Amino acid sequence: MKGAVLYGPRDVRYVDREDPKIVEPTDVIIRMSATCVCGSDLWPFRGIDISNQPTAMGHEYCGIVEEVGREVKKIKRGQFVVGSFFASDNSCPICQSGYQSRCVQAKPLGAEGAQAPYLRVPLADGTLVPTPELPPNELVPGLLATSDVLGTGWFGADAAAVAPGKTVVIVGDGAVGLCAVIAAKHMGAERIVMMSRHTARQQLAREFGATDIVTERGDEGVACIKDLTSGLGAHSTIEAVGTQEAMMQAIRSTRPGGHVGYVGVSHGVALPGLELFFAEVHLLGGPAPVRRFLPELIDLVCQQKINPGKVFDLELPLEQVAEGYRAMDERRAIKTLLVP
Ligand SMILES: [Zn+2]
Repeated sequence: MKGAVLYGPRDVRYVDREDPKIVEPTDVIIRMSATCVCGSDLWPFRGIDISNQPTAMGHEYCGIVEEVGREVKKIKRGQFVVGSFFASDNSCPICQSGYQSRCVQAKPLGAEGAQAPYLRVPLADGTLVPTPELPPNELVPGLLATSDVLGTGWFGADAAAVAPGKTVVIVGDGAVGLCAVIAAKHMGAERIVMMSRHTARQQLAREFGATDIVTERGDEGVACIKDLTSGLGAHSTIEAVGTQEAMMQAIRSTRPGGHVGYVGVSHGVALPGLELFFAEVHLLGGPAPVRRFLPELIDLVCQQKINPGKVFDLELPLEQVAEGYRAMDERRAIKTLLVP
């Protein structure tokens, strides 16, 4: 088969790769229904955290089970399944506590390269969640979104303790930030403030349930949030970027006793201890334990109660994956859907 491989900065190619095969008896092979480009794929695409070797790309996936390892018990051939970007056994003490992304057996799906027509999924019984029946095509983008962006936005909102009556601020208008709006709305937030200066993304944020848009950034952005909250700051802030500026904007936008859920992959973030001490906010973040939320999110998408598939504003055939990266890198697209 062919698949996406990163050769160097801004050099993604759709080239021959080995067909995935069952390696461990707990593996399955899925035939991809749709995959996509992640905001976090843009870091290596831009030459940050890049390896010297050509690297298979992609970690978001959903599709039909084609082949099943001999120790797989729950997942069956022919099922439509969704999984997270970390394979997990869903049974160790860490998984049991709801942090499957840090499972003692966690395996990154990125190492398998999901931007391809077929994918090996390790620890299939723990990792994958089947839909009740084969979904119609129009639900596939939404189901794919549960695999990462929606699950990550959901964790951001959960970690930020979003609840009815609260004011929620979202830093970052990428697909994860926009999905965090869906989560905050679903969790009953009273006021949802999206920090964005991008018209199309502001519109989608409003469609998903944002009540206010703040276009200012940094200290000016924080001042706007204080103005909106009687000088107190937000109850809950979701950080979905991963830079120093975004993290400090999130912490400074949050009131004492409030919660920051940070889900942007951290790049060069260093927190000033004394400021953190007096900020007196709860901080929880990291790679989202998407597996915890998957059953609920799949159900919400299948029942069409939410439509996170709207974050895909560009759809390309998989062989045009390089253009998918460029469009996101240049912010021409929020998120690229790739169809084999
Ligand atoms: Zn585990």
